[in-house]
Amino acid sequence: MPNIRALPDQVANQIAAGEVIERPVAVVKELLENSLDAGATGVEIEFRNGGRSYIRIEDNGSGMDRDQAILSIERHATSKIRQADDLLRIGTYGFRGEALPSIASVSRFQLRTRRETEDIGTELLLNGGKLLHVKDCGIPSGTRIEVHHLFNSVPARRKFLKADNTEAAHIIQLTKVYAVANPGTAFTLLENGRLLFNSPACPSLKDRVQEVFGIKLAGNLIPIQKVEGDYRLSGLVSLPGRGRSTRHEMITLVNNRPVSSLTLNHALLESYHAYLPRGRYPVVFLFLELDPGAVDVNVHPSKREIRFRDDARVRGFIIRSLLDKLRGSTEATKPTEVVGQSPAGAPCVANPVEMSPAAYAGPLPNPQSIATTASQRVKVGSPANAFESKETRKNSAPSDWETGWKFIGHVQRGLAVFDSSSGIVVLDRRAAHQRILYEKLESQYRKKKVAAQQLLIPVPIEMDSLGSAHLLDHLDFLNENGFKITEFGRNFFRIESVPAWISPDDAERFVEDLVGLMKEGKLNQEKPIEAFDQVARLACSRAVRLDDSVSDKEMISLVSWLFKCQNPLISPLGKPTYFEIGRNELERRLMK
Ligand code: ADP
Ligand code: MG
Repeated sequence: MPNIRALPDQVANQIAAGEVIERPVAVVKELLENSLDAGATGVEIEFRNGGRSYIRIEDNGSGMDRDQAILSIERHATSKIRQADDLLRIGTYGFRGEALPSIASVSRFQLRTRRETEDIGTELLLNGGKLLHVKDCGIPSGTRIEVHHLFNSVPARRKFLKADNTEAAHIIQLTKVYAVANPGTAFTLLENGRLLFNSPACPSLKDRVQEVFGIKLAGNLIPIQKVEGDYRLSGLVSLPGRGRSTRHEMITLVNNRPVSSLTLNHALLESYHAYLPRGRYPVVFLFLELDPGAVDVNVHPSKREIRFRDDARVRGFIIRSLLDKLRGSTEATKPTEVVGQSPAGAPCVANPVEMSPAAYAGPLPNPQSIATTASQRVKVGSPANAFESKETRKNSAPSDWETGWKFIGHVQRGLAVFDSSSGIVVLDRRAAHQRILYEKLESQYRKKKVAAQQLLIPVPIEMDSLGSAHLLDHLDFLNENGFKITEFGRNFFRIESVPAWISPDDAERFVEDLVGLMKEGKLNQEKPIEAFDQVARLACSRAVRLDDSVSDKEMISLVSWLFKCQNPLISPLGKPTYFEIGRNELERRLMK
């Protein structure tokens, strides 16, 4: 075995960089935190190509003198803690003293800094961790760091990066969250020279949220404030019923540090359980303050994940506080389980297509051609074949199916029971409905004939800058899918047409959810079929649960449409549409 020896610093830094600096957003996070720790009241962030080719962060904070600047790029050099005990009461974002040397070891790194009390600033230039020069420079007081060619020297890491716009989306989201955490600091964010947002110091959290996330989002939030012993909760939370399709706006901060914590997320989802439809997430900007000794921020190299010493107490405190607020909220709407249920009220040219049974698959089949009473049997597939492969199913025309189902009635919530000649069938009406809707959309999409309806009064919609950029990028795709959306002014759009299957009332929310998918990188126009699939699933997930007043005739029509589907067995969201209990099984259970 070769002799044991200490690693050279440069290697140690590159190894540490692997943990701390996984991707460009981590650089932004570390540098931004340093600026905030340095007491900056103004920070400007610029990046290019998702941060790979260039990141600049400039602040008006304390700055450093020459000795400090040189120390700052040393491993484990920090001005923020002195002894291990200090870890128990950390009041700054940083404390590990690893960020600067790590970043400098995997990029071309330039640091310029000046303390207000000194006339001349210091410039350091490093490449791949190697110090190239230290010299005087002129610079306003504060610190300016530029990171070029991130990971150039670490091709393995480069390979793992996602598309530029995915990396960019992370940087933007992170900046917004830190902006919300620090309303008193002015923030400017630029991408490829374009201003993404610019928010002056704001007097309140609400103003900052409004600046960064838009007036509309802020308008649906109510303030929350609660103290229990040494726990304090404050922030803004969404009104009942106003959910989002993604967790992007579920923002939690512990002692002002943006964190991701399963404990907090679960507590939030649980609090909103009765106040939001399934699959929707609340909008929350929640600040929890507690004794720094009661949380461990040092469990993850990038400090994003934290651990509470008393999980149960935190959870209970959050849930109690939120339920109090939600129950008491004057505008509280009834707990709801279904979105898009409101009757189509807004005027539109085409008939609004409600999610009624009549909307299953275009014109209903000729009533004479299908069973019209419960006692008549529908021609459907033999449930014995229910688990044959998709291929064989495709090839068998509905008319090949010789057995019929007799509709017995509705049971439980949303289930229908049939007597098939070989047993009993239990059908989930919503899942069946979703399957039919999905295939209808698919067939329109394939024929490039998406039925659109023009809205008599276009619906204005405001986006945040990221959403707006995504929407602009996807306009062609949307237009092919029955939408017509036009831009009018910065971050403002008008929805002029929507596909016929969307209730005009739901147009705005649907577009917001689509933009949510875009932000998550799930609507890739280069892969139109997959992108369509996402849109169609979103449509299906909102299809209304049919209530028990569905007539027998409609049930029969539903089943008959279901079996015209190519894949009648599962819903587009992956749930079974029905199952059968065969006669043998019934007999066995009843010991016949
Ligand atoms: P940490 O933040 O964990 O202390 P860093 O490597 O991020 O470690 O920074 C090292 C030190 O450099 C900090 O402790 C601080 O003293 C100094 N420093 C870094 N960035 C700035 C800045 N923008 N303004 C002033 N000082 C800074
Ligand atoms: Mg730091």
